[in-house]
Amino acid sequence: MSIKFTRRNFIRTASVTAALPAGALLTSAHAMTSVQGTAQPHVVVIGGGFGGATCAKYLRRYDSNIRVTLIEPKKTYTTCPGSNWYLAGLTDFDSITHSYQALKDKHGINVVHEWVSGIDPAGKTVKLKNGETLQYDRLVVSPGIDFRWDTIEGYGPEDVDKVPHAWQAGPQTKLLYDQLRAMPNGGTYIICPPPNPFRCPPGPYERVSMVADYFKKHKPKSKIIILDAKDKFSKMPLFMQGWQDLYGDMIEWIGASDGGRIKSVDVASKTVTTAEGETFKADVLNVIPAQKAGKLAFDAGLTNESGWCPVHQNTFESTIHKGVYVIGDSSIAGKMPKSGHSANSQGKICAAAIAVDLNGWDMPRPKLANTCYSLVANDYGISVVAVYQFDGKVMNKVKGAGGVTPKGAAPSQYLAEATYARGWYKSITHDTWLG
Ligand SMILES: Cc1cc2nc3c(=O)[nH]c(=O)nc-3n(C[C@H](O)[C@H](O)[C@H](O)COP(=O)(O)OP(=O)(O)OC[C@H]3O[C@@H](n4cnc5c(N)ncnc54)[C@H](O)[C@@H]3O)c2cc1C
Repeated sequence: MSIKFTRRNFIRTASVTAALPAGALLTSAHAMTSVQGTAQPHVVVIGGGFGGATCAKYLRRYDSNIRVTLIEPKKTYTTCPGSNWYLAGLTDFDSITHSYQALKDKHGINVVHEWVSGIDPAGKTVKLKNGETLQYDRLVVSPGIDFRWDTIEGYGPEDVDKVPHAWQAGPQTKLLYDQLRAMPNGGTYIICPPPNPFRCPPGPYERVSMVADYFKKHKPKSKIIILDAKDKFSKMPLFMQGWQDLYGDMIEWIGASDGGRIKSVDVASKTVTTAEGETFKADVLNVIPAQKAGKLAFDAGLTNESGWCPVHQNTFESTIHKGVYVIGDSSIAGKMPKSGHSANSQGKICAAAIAVDLNGWDMPRPKLANTCYSLVANDYGISVVAVYQFDGKVMNKVKGAGGVTPKGAAPSQYLAEATYARGWYKSITHDTWLG
């Protein structure tokens, strides 16, 4: 399919985007003035997750004259959203795993399954692990997260086949699933959530809920202990209420100030020691280390002292390297949380920014959306929604837009939210990889 990129066409595409449930909102306040040149510009997108795949697809939607190459080593992508549901047995692994076929066939994207080993922003080239070099006009980098392995004594990347973090969905998610199935009734699952900022703020607590859902049905004498590096967490009152109502005293949360921060791990005995020196022994241990931008972002010099990538938050162009854009978890995106929905929204805004830049038009003033649904049980969902807009400095929250599921709501509302959560998953994965 070939679409000529005209001003009228861009505005129409932008309003279609606004109508999508998972969509970023593009409000075009500015006129777009000219279409420059006929040569076909080449945009390389690194990382085929929520940010990169969305950006690649919307680049082609906004301007089919742009040649897009998406580089992603994995042949299929398993989403972290839904991976907690899989742990509870509420969905299967295939349902949360998606192919890149539609991006190739329907959107004309050149998908290359390879690792990027280096970026040269001055020469505008990307080096692949197989030795090939690709020239680009604009580069988008969406490599997700890496872990700060130096923050917990005794726990490193070599230990994940015994103590998985399962914070990048894939083989570790399956391992954690198997460990929970092999655990005896009456055993203890210990999860150690990371300090802020990290990928998916409600994620560890949804995981606790899903493990509790499984235990309640199959291993009711079991315990869950949360040793937290924080004193509060996303949707905390809602999770706490749900845990109390659904799982009684199965779950014990220990915040950082009450001795929850862990210092070291003995992988062989699955024992953790806290900063205060107390030890806890698990049957299944799930340590989620502190996080930073994906390794490639460091190697390419796109990070600052925070360990994340500074960007102009209206376009997501790097403040360090011109012509290079960083989206998704790796970027510093103001008040936006590190989530798949945020990455999807940022992918669209970044695609728009590149299309208008290449065509010499004005950038619309975008609004971006994020929703984080969590299941507390199969029929019990909660959510937080917010809308964001660039305020001249950062991507800030739009006052009065969004909200959180009320505490103490009728069961029918929590049931409805569980249905919406599943609908959200279908809609966002369709928007990112399938549609
Ligand atoms: C348990 C859990 C539950 C979650 N639930 C939700 C939820 O309900 N809703 C929600 O919105 N978010 C959720 N998230 C968060 C969401 O998964 C992330 O925020 C999202 O994946 C970020 O997208 P991204 O594009 O930045 O990174 P990713 O999706 O991780 O994609 C990065 C891609 O880059 C590739 N890559 C990395 N390095 C290279 C390289 N050198 N060369 C080529 N490719 C490379 C990787 O292979 C990867 O596919 C959850 C996360 C977890 C862990």
